[in-house]
Amino acid sequence: MKVLKFGGTSVGSAQRMKNVCELVLKERGNIVVLSAMSGTTNALVEIAGYYERTNAEGAHLCINKLREKYLLEIEALHESAEYREKTTAFVDSVFALLHSFASTEYDDKIEKTILAQGEIMSTNMVTNYLQEKGFKVRLISALDFMRLGENGEPDSAYIRKHLTEILNSDSDFDVCITQGFITRDAAGNISNLQRGGSDYTASLIGAALRAEEIQIWTDIDGMHNNDPREVEGTSPVPHLSFEEAAELAYFGAKILHPTCIQPARYAGVPVRLLNTMDPSAAGTVIDNRMVPNAIKAVAAKDNITAIKIVSSRMLLAAGFLNMVFEVFERYNTSIDMITTSEVGVSLTIDNTSKLSPILDELKRYGTIVVDKDMCIICVVGDLRWGNVGFESRITNALHGIPLRMISFGGSDHNISFLVKMADKRKALQALSKALF
Ligand code: ADP
Ligand code: ASP
Ligand code: MG
Repeated sequence: MKVLKFGGTSVGSAQRMKNVCELVLKERGNIVVLSAMSGTTNALVEIAGYYERTNAEGAHLCINKLREKYLLEIEALHESAEYREKTTAFVDSVFALLHSFASTEYDDKIEKTILAQGEIMSTNMVTNYLQEKGFKVRLISALDFMRLGENGEPDSAYIRKHLTEILNSDSDFDVCITQGFITRDAAGNISNLQRGGSDYTASLIGAALRAEEIQIWTDIDGMHNNDPREVEGTSPVPHLSFEEAAELAYFGAKILHPTCIQPARYAGVPVRLLNTMDPSAAGTVIDNRMVPNAIKAVAAKDNITAIKIVSSRMLLAAGFLNMVFEVFERYNTSIDMITTSEVGVSLTIDNTSKLSPILDELKRYGTIVVDKDMCIICVVGDLRWGNVGFESRITNALHGIPLRMISFGGSDHNISFLVKMADKRKALQALSKALF
């Protein structure tokens, strides 16, 4: 059994949904995870934003605009009046729910419920289309088996138990469909796995069921060796190890949600990145193998803030770094890059919501310098320290670009640089030219 996940663009219109169904039916008995139609989750965020500001009229206008789009797609999706009515009745129940929040006091639960509706509608549409065509399709609600633990992380044991029970109760299907992104939290309320989180759903399901393979179908032919939005002439990377893929996803390669590699990696289930628009393209395979002596790809993560703490007290002081890290831990802010010298330490964060109290506390330990609007450029591949020459090739490529931090040796497959966001494109282009 395989898990196939299709992203927003892949289910972005009636025609795309039909193409997805064709792909899905090439093999029977697989699990299909769907995102919301592209643009829908953004629209739902906007609707929630209007309710939060008690502007019900703004929300209603947005809901009606979204409904118009869905009615057009439903018209194009079905051949029979019976199925058009069935799907329209379903999406109208969703739009009625969205309108109903005008009369309730807005809170976090309402926000999460609003955001969940995109995946609920897309899975219903695809299910009805396949039923209309006469296929045996089983729609299972992610809200019946996806669960977060008390720590806010997915509860793998719960997911495995409930998903297995649901599938064992009826495994006679051509296709089994479920929603990406949405889950329940530890208290049983509707929640989600963060924006772009459908990849994570697919990986969690694939790991829970020890699937043969997890396929992430999107709008590009696999992981490219550089960011195709910034650099021309990038090309797909045929193979990545789990570690390499995790680094690239974490450091900005948008094709994969940052957390999605972990479950697949622990379960040893290979991940394949494929292109819905060009299904015969080879894409990228991600598994346990490590190809030696190769630089695979470059990625960039924006909106990074660097903090430098300089202190004469650091000189030979055991426990100095510990004091610094404790401050970040207390404010639940994770650190991405670190570099140290005898008199100071520089580190980076991407979540600046607690920056001000963090800086207040750090000032007790040293003199602080903050650099905002920075970007981490991350080069991934076989970067074991015995491989002489790779680091020099990479740093040579970046000559002429001011480098605020360099981090190497933290793992065997990553070297990272902190540059100004304004220099990001130049740095990515220079690396592509020198390395690929
Ligand atoms: P989906 O909606 O299917 O989840 P996403 O938009 O999340 O798709 O991810 C696919 C996009 O990721 C591509 O269209 C591409 O612009 C972007 N992307 C960024 N970096 C890379 C990369 N290194 N390789 C491939 N795609 C990338
Ligand atoms: N629909 C959600 C989003 O747009 C989840 C996803 O597409 O992965 O973020
Ligand atoms: Mg995505």
